[in-house]
Amino acid sequence: MCGGAPDHDVIVRALWANAVRLCERLATGKPAGMNVRHDWTVNEAEALIARPFHDLLFEAHACHRELHDPQVVEAAMLLSVKTGACPEDCAYCPQSAKWNTDLEPARLMPAEEIVASARSAQASGATRFCMGAAWRAPNDRQVEEVAVAVEAVGALGMETCVTLGMLTDEQATRLAGAGLDFYNHNLDTSPEFYGEIITTRTYEDRLETLANVRDAGVKLCCGGIVGMGESRRDRAGLLVQLARLDPQPESVPINLLVQVPGTPLHGTDELDPLELVRTIAAARLMMPESVVRLSAGRSQMTDELQALCLHAGASSIFLGDRLLTTANPGDDHDRDLLGRLDVDLAVLEGDAR
Ligand code: SF4
Repeated sequence: MCGGAPDHDVIVRALWANAVRLCERLATGKPAGMNVRHDWTVNEAEALIARPFHDLLFEAHACHRELHDPQVVEAAMLLSVKTGACPEDCAYCPQSAKWNTDLEPARLMPAEEIVASARSAQASGATRFCMGAAWRAPNDRQVEEVAVAVEAVGALGMETCVTLGMLTDEQATRLAGAGLDFYNHNLDTSPEFYGEIITTRTYEDRLETLANVRDAGVKLCCGGIVGMGESRRDRAGLLVQLARLDPQPESVPINLLVQVPGTPLHGTDELDPLELVRTIAAARLMMPESVVRLSAGRSQMTDELQALCLHAGASSIFLGDRLLTTANPGDDHDRDLLGRLDVDLAVLEGDAR
């Protein structure tokens, strides 16, 4: 038996939480957690992140099990289809033309090359193919070229996602017409910290693109980055912005900053890894139906940290050894880790592989 008596308050809180869930399930016929809140305050979110670690993880994992299968992880693959030379000044990004990094810029790939990459991603178990282009805002011709690729990748039977920067409502409608499943556009951080990270586009610009995408009927992939020198309150502020979107984003990537030499954030103090776990747990509780993705930064995480993040409610990862322009653990390592955790990769409905 473990040493020391269990804390009485913790047991009472756990029993109470279970009782509440059971009552909700009996009253509504639905699993608890379906009652999604859009009125989170920053104070509430900050208090949630600050809860005793084991209480927070217990609640987050219990919430996760209500609506998601803890033995399944979604796998996506992210390809940079147009690299570098971006006019924006995102302080974390090696693709900004403003920073002196080693990155080699590349024009938009032809659709055939994109589809060939999607085929190989599918063969390695990815069900979603994400295409990223380093643009501030694409022009209509560029959107048209991407739409052609989206249609072709969708025809393989994969979910499609693109991230192209700011979109007009007409452009969002064109991509929806091509069958695009998800559009990625991150809020990055809290509105208060945002100005420390980006000055070339506003928080409102981002929210407008999210609204255009949502109005076109495309699902949202929207999250942020931790470890950029922000405070816990900023992490709470980011989660509040995401949770207040109605509907909440279907996909919520939580990225850990990858510090790239030459970018202004290179040399930032490292975030305590348990803060990442707390942020994911709070995201799970505040957005119970969303799929939380443990996104960039996995190469610098231990397997044990990744396991904790999955326990806290993350259930999606990117496969492959590159994530746009930075390193990712690679399929072999991921399969080994997921095997050790008794976790399978998700398959799409109707996919017999
Ligand atoms: S994050 Fe996107 S918008 Fe910002 S500099 Fe990089 S490619 Fe450009």
